[in-house]
Amino acid sequence: MDHFALQSGVMHAEDVALPRIAEDVGTPVYVYSRATLERHARVFREALDGVPNKLIAFAVKANPNLAVLKVLQRQGYGADVVSVGEMRRALAAGIEPAKIVFSGVGKTAAELEAALKAGIGQFNIESEEEGIELAEIAARMGCLAQCALRINPDVDAGTHDKISTGKADNKFGVPIDEAGQIFGKLAGQPSVNLRGVAVHIGSQLGDLAPLERAFEKLGNLVTALRGAGHTITHVDLGGGLGVPYKQGETLPSPAEYGAMVARVTKDWDVSLIFEPGRVIAGNAGVLLTRVVRVKRGINDPFVIVDAAMNDLARPALYGAYHDFAAVEPGGDRMTANIVGPICETGDTFAMGRDCDRLVTGDLAVFRTAGAYGATMASSYNSRGFVAEVLVDGDKFAVVADRIDAGEIMDAERVPDWLE
Ligand SMILES: *Cc1c(COP(=O)(O)O)cnc(C)c1O
Repeated sequence: MDHFALQSGVMHAEDVALPRIAEDVGTPVYVYSRATLERHARVFREALDGVPNKLIAFAVKANPNLAVLKVLQRQGYGADVVSVGEMRRALAAGIEPAKIVFSGVGKTAAELEAALKAGIGQFNIESEEEGIELAEIAARMGCLAQCALRINPDVDAGTHDKISTGKADNKFGVPIDEAGQIFGKLAGQPSVNLRGVAVHIGSQLGDLAPLERAFEKLGNLVTALRGAGHTITHVDLGGGLGVPYKQGETLPSPAEYGAMVARVTKDWDVSLIFEPGRVIAGNAGVLLTRVVRVKRGINDPFVIVDAAMNDLARPALYGAYHDFAAVEPGGDRMTANIVGPICETGDTFAMGRDCDRLVTGDLAVFRTAGAYGATMASSYNSRGFVAEVLVDGDKFAVVADRIDAGEIMDAERVPDWLE
């Protein structure tokens, strides 16, 4: 459920009419709903009521906007970060260092050092090499790094290849059959408290079975590690729960996920960490756009909107589906190709889509754009970065300024020797 709905024929975000935002801030613009973010945060947390000890760490990469992070911080959420840039955002939003988990295969020495200095709660180590490097840096700094070893469980998440992370040939984690040996090596490092294991098999999962298989494998590993004399107090189950992108699509609910987790982990006797991203933020945002013009096509007309693949990359990257709807639907429908202005055929949001009839100047939204939307933007075609707005009841605020192409150009220069 979200808070983007028609009121008197005009789409609102909570109680703010979207045309008001378009007028004030311009288009394209991302619009987030605080009530929706809070609702999703609460539903996910309540779904895990059956799990006694836990930390829910929002996957910052899904939506790193400071105001969004602040909303989640106020809900008691921690943060799963994959760069020092994301760590700084989490800290700036007031998230306690102890609630920050640092994931990712390519943490640099400088990043490891900065995160140790900040005193973050857990490093999810993705290789033996990274563990050794972290141990050396921590020893030099005289601190103890709290760590979990990320395991690659070799399960097929059944999602898009580009967002699958738990197959043996993916770059993430250490192979599950080498985990015992690598764990033993790293646990012997005095500057590291290797206290657990972590897994994250992919994103937009439409089926709980692969998650359950991964968690079961992890449970067996925990038993084996304890058998080898290791103390395991923390297990990180990652994120990955999918969200409906199409009207009427059904996916496993947070409640079903929570029940499965409680059942599979009931004898583990650990603190669990969760890293949800999309399920919290996905349906809490839309990309508001204006129709530049409608162009005749050989078959269907092209509805050319002022948003493009640089603003919302998912359709171009993964062939992802985003629901597309008029802000003031008149009741008529059309079949159209929805495209942006960028000079690439990949800049296509949908082909042959049945949608509200639209004409030049109309406003429309791409739904479910709150996760992996603004955060994946680029300035391709010198289009700048779109603004972001957070709505709360009948008020709204710009929570990220539009960065126009001129500001980006200001950071460039022509060297003297070319003048
Ligand atoms: C991307 C990512 C997540 C979040 O995934 P969602 O599908 O958005 O829930 C969690 N953990 C890690 C390590 C990730 O890379």
